[in-house]
Amino acid sequence: MLSFRESVARFYRRRKGVNLDPESEIISLIGSKEGIAHLPLAFVNDGDYVLVPEPGYPVYYSSTLLADGIPYEMPLKEENGFLPDLQSIPDDVARKAKIMFLNYPNNPTAAIAPKEFIKEAIDFCVDNKVILAHDAAYSEITFDGYAAPSFLEFEDAFEICIEFNSLSKTYNMTGWRIGFACGNRDILSGLLKVKTNVDSGVFEAVQEAAIAAMDGPDSVIDENCKVYQRRRDLLVKGLKEVGIELKSRKRPFTSGQR
Ligand SMILES: *Cc1c(COP(=O)(O)O)cnc(C)c1O
Repeated sequence: MLSFRESVARFYRRRKGVNLDPESEIISLIGSKEGIAHLPLAFVNDGDYVLVPEPGYPVYYSSTLLADGIPYEMPLKEENGFLPDLQSIPDDVARKAKIMFLNYPNNPTAAIAPKEFIKEAIDFCVDNKVILAHDAAYSEITFDGYAAPSFLEFEDAFEICIEFNSLSKTYNMTGWRIGFACGNRDILSGLLKVKTNVDSGVFEAVQEAAIAAMDGPDSVIDENCKVYQRRRDLLVKGLKEVGIELKSRKRPFTSGQR
């Protein structure tokens, strides 16, 4: 529904400062997982590499295999802030790579991506002609005043990047199955070509519910995050009390800091 995509455009303008054309720069998904799973089928040929974070959401890896691609794992190490070391990717892999999957705020490490890293990833993908597929499932679930940027805010991102987003975490609509992809129109039209042959779209009542959520008050999201933050703080305290060491930021973010 165009009205759903228009609502996504309002949501991205309001929350990320990103302008999207609802006609060509947004497609609806039956949950972002569906789009992630279908993306390699659109672009990956036998023997092409797909750069996937390890650890990471398992679908990046499995959808690559389903498309006869070769997953190249990028380790997320604590000493690198759980960011992949792009310099360590061999040239021949980078040249034969079609897609790089990234995911920040990250599942499962909870790491966030600094601006410098996002710029580096965009430059890497522009230079190597790689599709940057950013999974932003947790873009709104942030704590301590941190607001996660969209990769589409950055220069040149629209050349090579699409961003997957979801109503599952932001609005607790996981079982309803609705999400979207936005960004580069050519990449989206490739994904749409696969989708047109596989599914026939999201149940319209669910799209209407998603519009109501996205056009509704942002306080719903803030309240949600407060609940999670309270639980997180309780868990961190409990873990520390039983002697389990864990990393946490020393200073809270000032409001809206990235
Ligand atoms: C939950 C999740 C998704 C998929 O969510 P959908 O319900 O399919 O929109 C994608 N990526 C990550 C990292 C997730 O945690």
